[in-house]
Amino acid sequence: MTAGERANAVVVWATLDKSQGRAAIKSFVVEKGTPGMTVERLEKKLGIRASDTAAIRFHNCRVPKENLLGDPEISVDKGFAGAMQTFDNTRPVVAGMAIGVARAALERTQEILKTAGLDLAYQQQSWTTTAAVRELHLLEAELEAARLLTLRAAWMADNGQPNSKEASMAKAKAGRVGNQITLRCVELCASLGYQETELLEKWARDSKILDIFEGTQQIQLLIIARRLLGKSSSELK
Ligand SMILES: Cc1cc2nc3c(=O)[nH]c(=O)nc-3n(C[C@H](O)[C@H](O)[C@H](O)COP(=O)(O)OP(=O)(O)OC[C@H]3O[C@@H](n4cnc5c(N)ncnc54)[C@H](O)[C@@H]3O)c2cc1C
Repeated sequence: MTAGERANAVVVWATLDKSQGRAAIKSFVVEKGTPGMTVERLEKKLGIRASDTAAIRFHNCRVPKENLLGDPEISVDKGFAGAMQTFDNTRPVVAGMAIGVARAALERTQEILKTAGLDLAYQQQSWTTTAAVRELHLLEAELEAARLLTLRAAWMADNGQPNSKEASMAKAKAGRVGNQITLRCVELCASLGYQETELLEKWARDSKILDIFEGTQQIQLLIIARRLLGKSSSELK
């Protein structure tokens, strides 16, 4: 769990009644220090090392009913949908993080290539420019596409419009191109990009998780396919 050690409280999903399936799964705020809740270990990670990731154990941990978030009723019709709606708001945020990291990597790469004497002007024709500059321009276009998808998904969330498909599209595109862009920037800057004297290697490591948590790349594609084809989760697994 992200920030599991330093947070004053964490949000945990648990069932109210195992016999009622997914509809009974609700989210709860569990405050730090609640008896039965212990941080077992801190993970050592590829990236986002400034953020702690804690494995937390809950053993006979009693949580007051006031700590339940959202509707306490178990509605078998609605199923899991209520809990899943949280992601419609959080996925555009993670997509925004991926865009931020990729943008930082692109801007630093632009500076490095300019210092090396490359002409980054868009007016050049693709057959007169260098391969490195052409690649940089293609990466910029990918970033812009991800940014626009993310703005749409976030705008829909802000305006109370159903946005599950758009949130997944934004997360899938931004997560994927975030990984591509940051790694490609390392390559474009060669040995400088790989060294710890630059932040490029750190951004490449940090971006990986943004294509994993809040739903992996594959899960986003699955959700988009379900929405486009009108299939339920049991019909398209
Ligand atoms: C650093 C870090 C911080 C995290 N922080 C949090 C947090 O704060 N809160 C929280 O709730 N979770 C957190 N997570 C968990 C994270 O959200 C999950 O690890 C992630 O969603 C993947 O789920 P999983 O680990 O169960 O992988 P699995 O579901 O076991 O998936 C493994 C692989 O199989 C693929 N896969 C699974 N099902 C399918 C399918 N049907 N079709 C195609 N491919 C499939 C996945 O895409 C993935 O590549 C964190 C994880 C990490 C690494």
